[in-house]
Amino acid sequence: MANFETVEVNTDLLIIGGGFSACGAATEAAYWAKKNGLKIALVDKAAMDRSGAVAMGLSAINQYVGVKDGENTLEDYVRYVRQDLMGISREDLVYNIARHVDSSVHLFEKWGLNIWLDEDGKYVHEGRWQLMINGESYKVIIAEAAKNALADAGGEIYERIFIVAPLMDGNKCVGAVGFNTRENQFYVFKAKAVIIGAGGAVHVFRPRSVGEGFGRSWYPPFNSGTSAYFTIQAGAEMTCQEVRFIPVRFKDAYGPVGAWFLLFKSRAISAEGGDYMVVREDELNNWAPYGLAKPIPANLRNYLGMLDVEAGLGPLYMETDEAIQKIAAEYKDDPKAYKKKMKELETEAWEDFLDMTISQAILWASQNVKPEEKHSEIAACEPYFIGSHSGASGAWVSGPEDIDTPYKWGYTNMTTVDGLFAVGDGSGASSHKFSSGSHAEGRIAGKSAIKYIVEKGAEPNVDMAKVEELQKKILAPLDLFEAHKGETTDPEININYIMPRQFLFRLQKIMDEYAGGVTSAFKTSKALLERGLELIGVLQEDSDKQAAGNLHDLMRIWENTQRMWIAESHIRTMLFREETRWPGYYFRSDTPKMDDENWKCFTNCRWDPNTGEWEMMKKDIWTMPGV
Ligand SMILES: Cc1cc2nc3c(=O)[nH]c(=O)nc-3n(C[C@H](O)[C@H](O)[C@H](O)COP(=O)(O)OP(=O)(O)OC[C@H]3O[C@@H](n4cnc5c(N)ncnc54)[C@H](O)[C@@H]3O)c2cc1C
Repeated sequence: MANFETVEVNTDLLIIGGGFSACGAATEAAYWAKKNGLKIALVDKAAMDRSGAVAMGLSAINQYVGVKDGENTLEDYVRYVRQDLMGISREDLVYNIARHVDSSVHLFEKWGLNIWLDEDGKYVHEGRWQLMINGESYKVIIAEAAKNALADAGGEIYERIFIVAPLMDGNKCVGAVGFNTRENQFYVFKAKAVIIGAGGAVHVFRPRSVGEGFGRSWYPPFNSGTSAYFTIQAGAEMTCQEVRFIPVRFKDAYGPVGAWFLLFKSRAISAEGGDYMVVREDELNNWAPYGLAKPIPANLRNYLGMLDVEAGLGPLYMETDEAIQKIAAEYKDDPKAYKKKMKELETEAWEDFLDMTISQAILWASQNVKPEEKHSEIAACEPYFIGSHSGASGAWVSGPEDIDTPYKWGYTNMTTVDGLFAVGDGSGASSHKFSSGSHAEGRIAGKSAIKYIVEKGAEPNVDMAKVEELQKKILAPLDLFEAHKGETTDPEININYIMPRQFLFRLQKIMDEYAGGVTSAFKTSKALLERGLELIGVLQEDSDKQAAGNLHDLMRIWENTQRMWIAESHIRTMLFREETRWPGYYFRSDTPKMDDENWKCFTNCRWDPNTGEWEMMKKDIWTMPGV
């Protein structure tokens, strides 16, 4: 076996991930841990300052309810999420996050985040729920607060450690194992409770950007489905694994469109000039009641654009020039004010990208795009798994203690596995939490996990024979490469193994062609899904034939394996749900309609670690009384 030092870390609470939800969890848990003399360890695959989806920064905080100013009620937010998810949301979780999210935002401001203010000192809204920020350093600020809180409570931070799998004691999670991505070290974390906040998943599907552009995607490439893999492997029940997210974004550099639609009130049109939201309005009747209520769900907006593309009316364009000119027109009688306004709008347009998707600004510059003069191409991206945004996949977690729902079996945000809590992209059916809501949910889970430890936390009972077995399995790709690399002139081509990139391409091809990716126009069917599942099965047989020439390859391999598992749960759940509920995210051609009678429910799944069998389940939707 490869020569690795084993590093053992003993802690009370283990937080996996260093992104928004994990930072929230660390900040809150540190406070309660200090009070109770407990220890916290946080482990991130990258460096916390710039890890996760907010690494590059953001230009808006997408969830702010504004309760203190009477702007909205918590119930308004519950209704909004229900509407956007076509009726499928855990309203107890959405409500719980909504009632805590404003305080997270106020903390961000206190910690130094610049939230735009208007002349009256009020937050500048991008849309009803979104606040504009100068957000290039958003992640750095939030990570700094989490680090300070941990330092104050004597907590520890482990960076550049890739967590692979959970450590289990029956149905109880007692830690995690992983490896250092820079040094030959195998890490064994033993804990009384674990919070998984390792984000969603990208590159499960073949991206639009292949070849020279490979790696580019809307969802940052760092998250490979660790949260889902971890909870699935632990035997936790999962929910909404079919609800992927497909954003429509500026084409090829995936620049954000929120500011254009919401702040600049821009239209999106086909190459013929028709606004697909107007031209195809009648289609929305087929998706009532959601298609007929406002705001129209994101997937339906996508779908209308996709129908244009299917009809050969592409490319689609964002009417940036029209939007800018329209706003500036208010000042047309005063040439000086008009010029100033135009400059201001132009600056805002570029800053929107520079705050969070710098590559889009570079692409615009390289293609001579002047947003005030010419429209710009938009397109639907490949599918992603991001339960905190407009997707909904993730673990099925216990609801808040004080709300009377059928979803309570333990401490708030605990999965169906004892001692294992899930947050952010890791917890399902509670979409639209975004950065701020993920932070708030992290805080909720942080407090809840400490309560669990105080009330129930026993010393972790870790089976070291199992750890050894896991270590052998996790490091095996290094041994495989070492054993056979000399047998061919190009070590990348070898009959005894495949390299991680080849494996990834195979996974992406299967998902793209059978599970409704870009080249299948996001369409699939029972027959396609069944064939896809068969091919995933063959891929699984080959997953332990992946070989690693170095630590980086080893990380790529485990990222692949984690993606493969989320892919399987995705296919299985799409297969189980015999209807089309989210056209624009995916369309089942053999069941092309929404079927509320049979499928207005959660579709949950669980992989049994003892038998290796999957169980598929329906769970009732609980609607908040009076909402
Ligand atoms: C392109 C894009 C644009 C967005 N725009 C906005 C916006 O404008 N406004 C807004 O409010 N929200 C926005 N969001 C949503 C927001 O970024 C997410 O909701 C939020 O980051 C989710 O938090 P999280 O903790 O679940 O995941 P992340 O913040 O992504 O954190 C995941 C963490 O897990 C770590 N990790 C991953 N794998 C492992 C592993 N194997 N071992 C150890 N650690 C691991 C990562 O390094 C990272 O630290 C956007 C998201 C994306 C992708």
